[in-house]
Amino acid sequence: MEKRDYYEVLSVTRDASGTEIKKSYRKLAIKYHPDKNPDDHEAEEKFKELGEAYDVLSDDQKRAAYDRYGHRAFSNGTGASAGGGGFAGADPFDIFREVFSGGSGGGGGSIFEEFFGGGGRGRSERRKRGSDLRYDLQLTLEEAASGVEKELKIERLVNCETCDGSGSKGGRSDVRQCATCGGAGQVITSRGFFQVQQTCPDCNGSGEVISNPCPDCSGEGCKDGSGHIKLKIPAGIMEGGRLRSVGHGDAGRQGGSAGDLYVVIHVKDHEVFERDDSDLFCEVPLPFTLAALGGDLTIPTLNGQASIKIPTGTQTNTSFRLRDKGMPDLQTGRKGDLLVNVQVEVPVKLNKKQEELLSEFAETVTEKNHPVGGSFFEKAKRFFTG
Ligand SMILES: [Zn+2]
Ligand SMILES: [Zn+2]
Repeated sequence: MEKRDYYEVLSVTRDASGTEIKKSYRKLAIKYHPDKNPDDHEAEEKFKELGEAYDVLSDDQKRAAYDRYGHRAFSNGTGASAGGGGFAGADPFDIFREVFSGGSGGGGGSIFEEFFGGGGRGRSERRKRGSDLRYDLQLTLEEAASGVEKELKIERLVNCETCDGSGSKGGRSDVRQCATCGGAGQVITSRGFFQVQQTCPDCNGSGEVISNPCPDCSGEGCKDGSGHIKLKIPAGIMEGGRLRSVGHGDAGRQGGSAGDLYVVIHVKDHEVFERDDSDLFCEVPLPFTLAALGGDLTIPTLNGQASIKIPTGTQTNTSFRLRDKGMPDLQTGRKGDLLVNVQVEVPVKLNKKQEELLSEFAETVTEKNHPVGGSFFEKAKRFFTG
């Protein structure tokens, strides 16, 4: 992507003074700050771009190099861009690289990086957004089907009550502009002939310090704690589904916004039902007399029992579909089906009377009663008779 002109990024003219640049940067940085624009990717990019532009234009040497060579001045060393080649020979910082990599062997590169802020760019923030947290929640299939409200106990960083999360004993009044850097977050020091810009060691680049830290949280604004939150689980949620609870992650540092809580859903295996999206599947044993004679068979569903009509002469592995007895769809709420597969069960442990009855019955059976078996033996006869 084409890099925008740094003067354009900062909304200043090419002859703007250092003060004008700083003023404009502050105004725009507040406007595009991630805390003010949560989840706004475009604002985040603009904020980064601003930091990069300010880093260069607020530094006289870098600004001079930029005026002369444009973005190419930084394509090899200090720029955040991975931009192609450029004029390696024209890189105004090459001379520094040589100086520093001279006597110090392999470490030279990193010294160079440190001096020119090769790592983080722009000002860092004293306030820090809290971390996102993950919570794994087990549900029964019934709960996933009906939806449920759960109370979760979360171990997390919570706002310090003593200082109301600010980290300072007297609230905002104890937050002062950093005296070392005058609020810029950067300090300029001299090293030999060179003026070097560095992150301010007293405020870590934020430009602010807490003069009187809260004793209960050592100035962090947050501490270990736990809390209960109520979470509505929508009907139809799937294994691995994720729910986000905004602001229920760790509290932010020194007044930063809280992170989010991500709840990952696990649905326990059910003893009777298997799930396939919004359809349910189960196997039900069918007594062989009922299979032969036909009649009503009681079957389980997720919300109680139901009855299906078994036609006479039902074979094993026959499936029956019960409409709308499955799981609801998470988006539409429309219910899937329940598929019942019957397994004909042959009776065991017969008593004398039952044996006699069955033998009597067997004597009456003809090929017509077993059409499948009959045609099978018809085919197999060839093998027996050769
Ligand atoms: Zn505190
Ligand atoms: Zn400072």
